[in-house]
Amino acid sequence: MNVNQSAPPVPPFGQPQPIYPGYHQSGYGGQPGSTAPPTPYGAYNGPVPGYQQTPPQGMSRAPPSSGAPASTTQAPCAQPTYGQFGQGDVQNGPSSTVQMQRLPGSQPFGSPLAPVVSQPAVLQPYGPPPTSAQVTTQLAGMQISGAVAPAPPTSGLGYGPPTSLASASGSFPNSGLYGSYPQGQAPPIGQAQGYLGVQTPQRSAPSQASSFTPPASGGPRMPSVTGPLLPGQGFGGPPVSQPNHVSSPSPQALPPGTQMTGPPGPPPPMHSPQQPGYQLQQNGSFGPARGPQPNYGSPYPGAATFGSQPGPPQPLPPKRLDPDAIPSPIQVIEDDRNNRGTEPFVTGVRGQVPPLVTTNFLVKDQGNASPRYIRCTSYNIPCTSDMAKQAQVPLAAVIKPLARLPPEEASPYVVDHGESGPLRCNRCKAYMCPFMQFIEGGRRFQCCFCSCINDVPPQYFQHLDHTGKRVDAYDRPELSLGSYEFLATVDYCKNNKFPSPPAFIFMIDVSYNAIRTGLVRLLCEELKSLLDFLPREGGAEESAIRVGFVTYNKVLHFYNVKSSLAQPQMMVVSDVADMFVPLLDGFLVNVNESRAVITSLLDQIPEMFADTRETETVFAPVIQAGMEALKAAECAGKLFLFHTSLPMAEAPGKLKNRDDRKLINTDKEKTLFQPQTGAYQTLAKECVAQGCCVDLFLFPNQYVDVATLSVVPQLTGGSVYKYACFQVENDQERFLSDLRRDVQKVVGFDAVMRVRTSTGIRAVDFFGAFYMSNTTDVELAGLDGDKTVTVEFKHDDRLNEESGALLQCALLYTSCAGQRRLRIHNLALNCCTQLADLYRNCETDTLINYMAKFAYRGVLSNPVKAVRDTLITQCAQILACYRKNCASPSSAGQLILPECMKLLPVYLNCVLKSDVLQPGAEVTTDDRAYVRQLVTSMDVAETNVFFYPRLLPLTKSPIESTTEPPAVRASEERLSNGDVYLLENGLNLFLWVGASVQQGVVQSLFSVSSFSQITSGLSVLPVLDNPLSKKVRDLIDSLRAQRSRYMKLIVVKQEDKLEMLFKHFLVEDKSLSGGASYVDFLCHMHKEIRQLLS
Ligand SMILES: [Zn+2]
Repeated sequence: MNVNQSAPPVPPFGQPQPIYPGYHQSGYGGQPGSTAPPTPYGAYNGPVPGYQQTPPQGMSRAPPSSGAPASTTQAPCAQPTYGQFGQGDVQNGPSSTVQMQRLPGSQPFGSPLAPVVSQPAVLQPYGPPPTSAQVTTQLAGMQISGAVAPAPPTSGLGYGPPTSLASASGSFPNSGLYGSYPQGQAPPIGQAQGYLGVQTPQRSAPSQASSFTPPASGGPRMPSVTGPLLPGQGFGGPPVSQPNHVSSPSPQALPPGTQMTGPPGPPPPMHSPQQPGYQLQQNGSFGPARGPQPNYGSPYPGAATFGSQPGPPQPLPPKRLDPDAIPSPIQVIEDDRNNRGTEPFVTGVRGQVPPLVTTNFLVKDQGNASPRYIRCTSYNIPCTSDMAKQAQVPLAAVIKPLARLPPEEASPYVVDHGESGPLRCNRCKAYMCPFMQFIEGGRRFQCCFCSCINDVPPQYFQHLDHTGKRVDAYDRPELSLGSYEFLATVDYCKNNKFPSPPAFIFMIDVSYNAIRTGLVRLLCEELKSLLDFLPREGGAEESAIRVGFVTYNKVLHFYNVKSSLAQPQMMVVSDVADMFVPLLDGFLVNVNESRAVITSLLDQIPEMFADTRETETVFAPVIQAGMEALKAAECAGKLFLFHTSLPMAEAPGKLKNRDDRKLINTDKEKTLFQPQTGAYQTLAKECVAQGCCVDLFLFPNQYVDVATLSVVPQLTGGSVYKYACFQVENDQERFLSDLRRDVQKVVGFDAVMRVRTSTGIRAVDFFGAFYMSNTTDVELAGLDGDKTVTVEFKHDDRLNEESGALLQCALLYTSCAGQRRLRIHNLALNCCTQLADLYRNCETDTLINYMAKFAYRGVLSNPVKAVRDTLITQCAQILACYRKNCASPSSAGQLILPECMKLLPVYLNCVLKSDVLQPGAEVTTDDRAYVRQLVTSMDVAETNVFFYPRLLPLTKSPIESTTEPPAVRASEERLSNGDVYLLENGLNLFLWVGASVQQGVVQSLFSVSSFSQITSGLSVLPVLDNPLSKKVRDLIDSLRAQRSRYMKLIVVKQEDKLEMLFKHFLVEDKSLSGGASYVDFLCHMHKEIRQLLS
């Protein structure tokens, strides 16, 4: 099926070919104008009552010329009422003066947030405030010390040569290209003096220098204008993107022995009295470190993962950057919350960077899709491909077409254009949207994507106002909103037939393992009530979804649960090689009609198999059977598979145990991520054609080959859940919670997504859980509100600053009630001729989301080391390009990061040391395959917390405080042994208890009298009637509610053996598997950048 209508020879679903001559109805939207009373919203046949019931406030439909600018519209929570929309900014006009600037978010990085481990040592060294002159001297003295301390040979590290200019998203070069680079001595850094000449510090008070013993006037600030500005550098206005200066360690600083962890020791005596410490805490500038180039080459415990040769012996103890002086994720998140969490994000202005995903904000759709639907790596695209190549910033959009919205925001309106169907461009088939330009008095419109001039069908004609805007623009979602839906006509349906409502088939493994663990009994009991909560649409009283049941071990059992039966009937199919569905009538039923039979079946299943000794299972035939059943019923649907073991029974899709940890760090490691047979891809393809989405719940006791079993879920838009060593007592809450959510969530079935772009760029690559049989159409047997499709764009022509770039994502799908719909999201981006504009409008969280997905796909076909090297190289190139083209002139010894990307190194390091790219000894092959495919469809908020977990101190803030405690950085040195912390990453949840926690706290939380009595590994906190217990349990509930999967709690005691597991998530620290600490990685990145620049 094609959303794309560019005349394929034999359209699979029948192509709507919008020709508009023969319109007979006089009204639009299927309402005969003569009979239906004209209503202002007649064209909308949407299920969203708010649209019709909420009159435009005061009927103040703004005349086109007098619309208020986007930023002055009204209250955050108001229902969208078209009349109030400010005009003028909806169209993609030039990015005018109303464009919101990215707020000056940059604060001193170092300031540890609120309650952190006190670090007196950090506070002491700062002497009296330096004078301006001192600042420059100091800067000069702080250059990274490549010349002084010989840079350790990097050959053992295996970081890729910075010179291999991999394209932003090209294929991985073969590993041969990724040899270690020569023992690059960092260039001597004597150039610093040049800096002196241009630096004229103008301000002396950092905006927040709270964490540093405040010199009377604060630390010196870097000048906001330094020397000759490069074009587009834009320091003039509000400090939008001050470059960040990280001066790497000064050669003369710390005495040997300063350790990597724990609070920094006392500061070294400064060689020069003129060096009052560092903290050039200005926008984006962070202090120098105190040692020479930290020992990036130090032998990581898992050195093998960094390359084949072990690192050289370590000559000197490490000296390091002050962690407080490098960009802090916590600070950036906090700043964005403070700056952007108070006002709604109004989408009327082109190219606006939305608030961070970690900020709570409301969205008002005024012509561009909400960031909940689409987030981009940059909101300002280079005009030429040369610029884009130079910058190496991937241009990508992370799209979540069916994203769930907070209750305050209205779901997209459904527009019904009657028999004629949605209005589209005749040439490129783009759908009517706010960016289409009406001309010739409204009789024609010019397509904003391909410039084709189209006739306006008579029913759709409307006059234009003096600005050229249709006078009904604000009555029509498709002319005024970024996101809306169209009811699809029969032309958009398979076989030119409106679809039947979808079906759910529950397919339950009843082999010995499943019975023994109590899984089958638990599941059957749960289904009895859960079936009352199948997704339904709008105000429907009951769900239209039909259900069916299959159990299996190495044969399949189908059940007839027809309402007229007194008892369910079982039919066994043992010929798994040639799967067929033994019954049609009575297999898929309405829950309410067949309730008694279904309940009886679910009561009987655990009993029937209670004494089974069958340990073997099949897998592919189960999927095949479900798919055939949907095919026979001529509907789309979803299979819920509950499976326990490696399918070794003789049958199609039979697997063998091929797990081999010895392959890690070899060129064959990629095979661990690849399916062991192509059978599942073939099966998945058939499923997609049928609109059969597969959700897989795995309960393995050992290796089950997740890489192979997840192929069908992955290609059909389904989900995989894994409960290793499942035990009812310990895991039922997690499993049932996931199951309930999964069964109830709204899903679009039998979907096709197409992303159209305006001339000059086009979608070239896609990431996510879907299938593609051509290069443009993303086919999704099912798509739920949690899943994203990531799209990468490339230039195919020059872009124009004035017209910008447009994206239109169209998703054709069948709703839970069987309605065929199109959901449209539009987004306009700016285009730039200055690289600085690109760097000023980037979104690092989205960039990391893209880079992680790119890397996680890369491991399927490349050595993991090559994948890591590619990421490092690309990151270095991005930052080097900024340094070269956008940053103010300064010495080579300074690491300068763009404001919007100052967290790129820390986040990228988290990706590099993730289990997929650098596994620890405890991580299984199945874990890696599981995480790999999970990340593939994660949204930006999920990857953000997954790679950089949230660490929340629980006993620092007043107990009465109702807000979430401010997070601290994910590092051991931020933990105080007198406190309790929660750590979450969207999949895991830990409660860490310090060894010196007050006895009262222990009593309040655990109801035991001392630390030693706390049970390590506890997964449920006792329900105690005291404020602290309540607060912590509420917080845990609230964290769980924010995530799409249930996070099981693990209580970890300081110094307990479980703590190793917990420390794995302290991602700023060096990891046991050899992953670099943040500080070390930043220094390494700096070196890479300098090599690129030299
Ligand atoms: Zn067009």
